[in-house]
Amino acid sequence: MSDTIFGKIATGEVAADLIYEDDEVVAFRDLNPQAPVHVLLIPRKPIRTLNEAEPEDAVLVGRLLLAAAKVAKQEGIAEQGYRTVINCNAGGGQTVYHLHVHLIGGRPLQWPPG
Ligand code: AMP
Repeated sequence: MSDTIFGKIATGEVAADLIYEDDEVVAFRDLNPQAPVHVLLIPRKPIRTLNEAEPEDAVLVGRLLLAAAKVAKQEGIAEQGYRTVINCNAGGGQTVYHLHVHLIGGRPLQWPPG
């Protein structure tokens, strides 16, 4: 169990605009989108930050990225390109402490990010 909003989305306690789910991963649209496509991918397993991911989570972390690529295809942005981002801790801009991958696309993206 997790007491973050994303933990509750993963268990179905809190509704979200789900666009993909499987046994281990759930994807839903970000409430405050930064681009035409802005999807969050989370593991059902509550892992606070990337720092807390253990070697036993290696396949799960890989599945998050593969699910992001699948959703990018589903959303029609795979060919033009997109960005995946994991913010870690306050200095990295993390605000929800349940590991998540941002999938962002549908507009030109600048580099470096802010
Ligand atoms: P981060 O700053 O990397 O922790 O990202 C958290 C993201 O979660 C932000 O982009 C928020 O807009 C988004 N967010 C927060 N609560 C919800 C929610 N209930 N449903 C969808 N997205 C959310």
